[in-house]
Amino acid sequence: MKSGRVRLRIAPSPTGYLHVGNVRSALFNWLYARRNGGVFMIRIDDTDLARSDDRYVEDIVEGFRWLGLDWDEGVEVGGPHGTYRQSDRFERYREVAEVLVDSGRAYYDFRSADELETLRARARRERKAPGYYIRRPSDSASRSRLAAGERGVVRFSTPDRPVEFRDLVRGEVRFEADAIDDFVMLRSDGSPTYHLASTVDDIDYRISHVARGEDLLSSTPKHILLTEALGAEHPVYAHLPLLFGPDGRKLSKRHGDTSLRSYREAGYLPEAVFNYMSLLGWSLDPDTEIFGQEEAIQSFDLVDVQKSPAVFNPEKLAWMNGVYIRSMNSVDFAALAVDAIEADLGRVPDDDERGRLAVLAPLLQERTRLITDIGPAARFLFSGITYDEKAWRKVMKPAAERALDAARTALEEVEAWTTENIEVALRGMLASEGLNARKGWQPVRVAITGSNISPPLFESLAALPRDVAMTRIAAAQQRIVRLASPEYSGFPHTEAFKASAT
Ligand code: GLU
Repeated sequence: MKSGRVRLRIAPSPTGYLHVGNVRSALFNWLYARRNGGVFMIRIDDTDLARSDDRYVEDIVEGFRWLGLDWDEGVEVGGPHGTYRQSDRFERYREVAEVLVDSGRAYYDFRSADELETLRARARRERKAPGYYIRRPSDSASRSRLAAGERGVVRFSTPDRPVEFRDLVRGEVRFEADAIDDFVMLRSDGSPTYHLASTVDDIDYRISHVARGEDLLSSTPKHILLTEALGAEHPVYAHLPLLFGPDGRKLSKRHGDTSLRSYREAGYLPEAVFNYMSLLGWSLDPDTEIFGQEEAIQSFDLVDVQKSPAVFNPEKLAWMNGVYIRSMNSVDFAALAVDAIEADLGRVPDDDERGRLAVLAPLLQERTRLITDIGPAARFLFSGITYDEKAWRKVMKPAAERALDAARTALEEVEAWTTENIEVALRGMLASEGLNARKGWQPVRVAITGSNISPPLFESLAALPRDVAMTRIAAAQQRIVRLASPEYSGFPHTEAFKASAT
């Protein structure tokens, strides 16, 4: 290994929103750099100019910031290598390719796609690796075509020997000579391939450790040979296990959202995402599931990463987010709730409304998994309600009208509008009406929140101004009566009916 501080990088391609797989790789690189007092950098692998887009560069940068992964060098920070975008360094890659051509370690290849396909077909027939026959053509043929101004690719001339290296995760890895073809380094338009750009950058930026997804394992012998041909020492490699969905298949869109952005927008806390992602192939110890950045830094090592695939389970992530929300102090939660409610309502709640929220906040906190759950759960406190029609049909049968009437009468008797008094009144009502809680209280819940799922009933009533609660119960009674009247029978859920019912 190289001497001095460890230097690691994450090298996403800005061809889409930052993927959770890249986030997990970034996190492991970052943890290792921080654990060892080293350097972590973000490099933008945008050699594919047609598919790269600046909005994805922004998404990458925002995503890492949100997660709390800071970087010492790289895009937006700059450094001795400018912006750390490969598109800024095409000249450098061409120069390296020329050096290798001059030293005989690489060659121009002018063969047509058809000629190459013939060679591949032969390899297939003989059950050899696809690039088996794609080897160096005679130099004289190349020279004359180059002189004639033809454009060709530059291929690396792979030496005929196996490549062995020790991977921090996978142990000893060996690739036979046949498995490594004369890969293209420079395309005929002069643009570099991933193999060339990535290897040159890893050398120029003095990268000591490359931790990346196992899907890139077969690229590594090429990078090692290229590094050696350039007279440099290759970095230590760690190939991280792939991410699978809960069904044991490779993670893909079919398992739900796979961009970090979707989790940011869906109301996850960065601390929870950090914690969960760091468990994808690693663990702090066999018993600890919930831990923070500092703890992870203290014990992280790439050699402890597991070989077998890691399961990305969005349900578990949501559960963990709930754990983090419940562990917040009440002041922080209230601030978060106000923001969430503001986003949901599209306006700032006034002081009176904040007061209502304060009554309910502890109960909301216990029940919230995602920040975006807060707005819908608290909406009934701030504006008129719309009935969830499914809940209404389930709960608001004609008999519910009697329960609502009894509840309203009982609540009218309440002196101070407090949770305790409301509870006493509604329990008394159940007893005198001979109703169970479901029959007696669910209608009240639907009447005041519009839904059969809500924060606890007594607190919800207490959080509402008394007159609002009473008006809602009366309105629901009327709606039950209207729905049951012969005038509407047969058409209970038409749009016209809904409009007249609110
Ligand atoms: N741009 C490559 C990727 O995102 C980088 C791979 C590497 O780390 O070398 O897969």
